[in-house]
Amino acid sequence: MKKHYYLGLNAKLRHGWRHLLARGRQSDLEALSSYLGQKYGGKAVLTKNGRSALAMALKAYFTRGDGIIVNGFTCYAVIEAVRAAGLVPIYADINRETLNYDAETLNKLWAGPAAASSPTPAGAGVPQAASPAHADATQATPIISGIIIQNTLGNPVDIKAVERFAGKHGLMIIEDLAHCAGIKYADGREAGTIGAASVLSFGKDKSIDTISGGAVVLRYPCKTTIRAPKKLPKMSDRIRGRIYPLIAGAVRGLSYVHLGGLCMRVALKLHLVEKSADNKLELDKTLTPAEAKLALRQLKALNTSGEAPLREFYLVDDRALVLDKLKRAGYHFAGFWYETPIAPERYYKKADFDESKCPVAAEVARQIINFPTYYTRSDLAEARKIVQKHLTYGGKNAR
Ligand SMILES: *Cc1c(COP(=O)(O)O)cnc(C)c1O
Repeated sequence: MKKHYYLGLNAKLRHGWRHLLARGRQSDLEALSSYLGQKYGGKAVLTKNGRSALAMALKAYFTRGDGIIVNGFTCYAVIEAVRAAGLVPIYADINRETLNYDAETLNKLWAGPAAASSPTPAGAGVPQAASPAHADATQATPIISGIIIQNTLGNPVDIKAVERFAGKHGLMIIEDLAHCAGIKYADGREAGTIGAASVLSFGKDKSIDTISGGAVVLRYPCKTTIRAPKKLPKMSDRIRGRIYPLIAGAVRGLSYVHLGGLCMRVALKLHLVEKSADNKLELDKTLTPAEAKLALRQLKALNTSGEAPLREFYLVDDRALVLDKLKRAGYHFAGFWYETPIAPERYYKKADFDESKCPVAAEVARQIINFPTYYTRSDLAEARKIVQKHLTYGGKNAR
């Protein structure tokens, strides 16, 4: 463990310096756009982050006030984008094996309480909104006209079932590739080659990670003209993006002597670091040339690296205990994903999530542990052993 640890840290710091000094040019932006346009078959627009890309895709294809089905286990960034486009998120419960909605939960959602208690036949497109009690200023029963596919942590949805469902109810599909760039569905088609638009995030710990950034590929003709943003993000955001890998490397090193947490808190206080969830949605900002260069390099590498899931996950019965054991064994997880069905926790209230309608997502959020990708597989051997003793479910990617 120790030796691996130092080797890992060394690599981290080397990567940090390389990231800090990466140089890009205008031509890198053009190269990335054209690569994405070809790979996913459409017009690519580069953005400041994934949520801006998603909002742009939704604006391009949907009418304000419509409802759109989202996975009931996701990031608040998705909800932010849905609302920025004037749409209402409708949460679908998940399957604990894939962390995605499936045919059963989708059909149940469609035939939901509204349809059951009203004369409107199920399928007429007016199921009850996720939380009419305090829904957005919009309306309680929006027309549902779309569905976002997320392929949580790199686990593919049952694409045939989703296409059947979308076809039956006239829903447009948007593919969010933040977790799953490069993966294939069961029928061999690649994620991002199916829906009206494919959205990428290049944020921290995503499939493609340049610390910040995003892109959307518009595959169908749009309702409105979408102009590519031209402005670069604010200087302070760009500096934060540059120095992040070095700070993260230092924090990881210091966590070995139990000072990592303190170091991170100081960095946050001084605004040297921004939490991913706080990265602002800005439709008029683009990617920096250096980010474009890094993103393109990682995208090209995806083709050969196969279908690695983003994070292996496990469901355990006493998470606090397991996390404590992991900590004592020397694992410093800066945070696993989804301690609430819509994460992070400090944004959960805003998501208007009704747990009684998505009971599986609510339970999984209490049980899930997933491993950060900055540990190598062999580093995680000990962690796996600890987790194995408390499993309620092994997780799809348990190795
Ligand atoms: C992180 C994330 C996004 C948004 O990415 P940002 O670049 O942070 O805006 C979108 N969808 C999913 C599923 C994500 O996990």
